[in-house]
Amino acid sequence: MITLRELTKRYGDTVAVDGLTLDIKAGQVTGFLGPNGAGKSTTMRMILDLDHPSEGEALIDGRPYSSMRHPIREVGALLDAKALHPARSARSHLVAQARSNRIPLRRVDEVLETVGLAKVARRSAGAFSLGMYQRLGVASALLGDPEVLIFDEPVNGLDPDGVRWVRELVRSLAAEGRTVFLSSHLMSEMQLTADHLVIIGRGKLLADTPMADLLANSSLSSVRVRTPDVADLRTLIDRLLKDDDVTVESPAADEVVVKGRSAEQVGDLAHRLGLRLHELRTVSASLEQAYMELTAQSVEYETGHTVFGGTGSKETQGAEA
Ligand code: ADP
Ligand code: MG
Repeated sequence: MITLRELTKRYGDTVAVDGLTLDIKAGQVTGFLGPNGAGKSTTMRMILDLDHPSEGEALIDGRPYSSMRHPIREVGALLDAKALHPARSARSHLVAQARSNRIPLRRVDEVLETVGLAKVARRSAGAFSLGMYQRLGVASALLGDPEVLIFDEPVNGLDPDGVRWVRELVRSLAAEGRTVFLSSHLMSEMQLTADHLVIIGRGKLLADTPMADLLANSSLSSVRVRTPDVADLRTLIDRLLKDDDVTVESPAADEVVVKGRSAEQVGDLAHRLGLRLHELRTVSASLEQAYMELTAQSVEYETGHTVFGGTGSKETQGAEA
């Protein structure tokens, strides 16, 4: 687990990270989202003792990174993939790291195999593509077989196969019970990868929430019902479910759209009162939509064009949100 307590970083007048307090738990992938300049990389650097907090602290399993004897056996990180000597080969880079952390050399070949660089391991890294650098960065993060993994924008520069590979890798690391903390600005990819989200804007915490809850709470998520009993259902919802945060519409003669209540709640109500439902489904907002609603107030840099991939709603049949 990673624990942040009032973590704050100021650069002159800029407050890059502003009083973050949260736990990043083991056994799940926690996605770290925020506009450019929100403070994601600065937060990660402070966790790894590459930057000193102005206030507060970051702990890994209760201890500061600086107190660890062999830190890469406890925390693996990929921050700046290109931060290595271009004349070195991938293998010699990893061998040096393994030696200084008392990691057996066979582990170097294991991780080179895992990240798909075994065949080019002896070439100098200067000739690597960005995607190969990212793979080497992942190899270096995995080298010490750590329980905690921190990846800053790991899919940058990867082709679609590489993106999918990172997704499957981080999901399997979390499934083994490890703590995985991963930033990305690619919404559609994050929606597929993360279980939990930490969202910041201008250094401040905007959300610390399960992905499913964020999507369900979006104003763009709704429960859609097809029923021959539209009028009765609307009356009942008005009487029994209606609240300030619930809206009900009928876009078609046989359709009722409810926002602010789950499919379970609407279905159970209809069942209790003997109304016929011919279809009951949740239409979930995309992460991009939910994120945009949340961060509308705190975009530091207006880009004038969308930088996020994927639009439109994701539909899930049945009752789950
Ligand atoms: P993100 O990774 O979310 O894009 P960063 O953590 O890189 O954001 O940056 C957060 C803020 O801190 C930005 O305003 C950035 O300009 C500023 N910043 C980051 N590093 C430094 C630094 N070394 N010196 C001065 N300002 C910095
Ligand atoms: Mg960054």
